[in-house]
Amino acid sequence: MTELLELSLDPVACLERAAEVIRGGGLCAFPTETVYGLGANALDAEAVARIFAAKGRPATNPLIVHVADVAGAQRVVKAWPPAAEALAARFWPGPLTLVLPRADMVPDITTAGLDSVAVRVPDHAFARDLIRAAGGAVAAPSANRSTAVSPTTAQHVLEELDGRIELVIDGGPTRVGIESSVVSLLDGEVRLLRPGDVSRAQLEAVVGPVGAKGTGPARSPGMMSRHYAPQAEVRLVQSSDLSAHAGREAAALVHRASPEGYGCVRRLPGDPAGYAKGLYAALRELDGAWQRIVVERVPDDEAWAAVRDRLGRAAR
Ligand code: AMP
Ligand code: MG
Repeated sequence: MTELLELSLDPVACLERAAEVIRGGGLCAFPTETVYGLGANALDAEAVARIFAAKGRPATNPLIVHVADVAGAQRVVKAWPPAAEALAARFWPGPLTLVLPRADMVPDITTAGLDSVAVRVPDHAFARDLIRAAGGAVAAPSANRSTAVSPTTAQHVLEELDGRIELVIDGGPTRVGIESSVVSLLDGEVRLLRPGDVSRAQLEAVVGPVGAKGTGPARSPGMMSRHYAPQAEVRLVQSSDLSAHAGREAAALVHRASPEGYGCVRRLPGDPAGYAKGLYAALRELDGAWQRIVVERVPDDEAWAAVRDRLGRAAR
């Protein structure tokens, strides 16, 4: 049985217990502003191995090391270029992950053997307090079984990991709802490896032109195309094609259209931030209940890039 503690009831007890679990080499799921993370001491190879086992995550998929501040990030990297300084100053704490050369203290298993490490300071006070109390470096991938949709509530975490981890801290639904933007700063270049809440335009306003993910060190290992995947068949269709895909066994996930002929029509907000916040909970709710989830395509512009990326992967 996994222990569940509610953050609002006793934040001090939550912090003590969660830090005790992580310092002891155990696994504790906790809220961040993006999704719930499955935390272990990033510098303890055995504890990190338990993350991979609990999630069923392939050993080739590196973890993000969560730190409490810039000094914490500098401890786990070997280089801190001006772009890191500028991006951290602008976006940390926040949903931006930076990939930098890895310091020797970070075990191989944490970075899937790469000589780079991904670091981020979450915009969630409890998460940062926990990271500090647990030793300063907490590996925390999303707290779900590998390939499932990321959890945005403590209940989602328990649905998949009950009995596999020591503790879940319930801090309510997460604010952003999708995973962080991942940016590589290797080889003197800035490249966007995974779109997220921090947009390309926001990054470029700070560091100038940002490249796309490429090959070699700037690739994004572990970003399997089918990553955020529900069990149901997911189809992405234009608003005007929704009725052609309708059926009583299908659910429509819409943000603008009001299609007919579906067994269920689930609506998300028409702005990208509101849509992202509700997306994973909606997919979970519809998955299992419906054979087919027909998703109204979202706009093609930059503001929707992160949502488009996650929908594209759910549909594959
Ligand atoms: P998550 O699944 O949200 O924990 O995010 C982890 C993702 O961050 C991985 O699947 C990679 O795509 C990316 N990542 C983590 N570490 C690295 C790294 N050293 N180099 C490049 N990408 C990384
Ligand atoms: Mg994940």
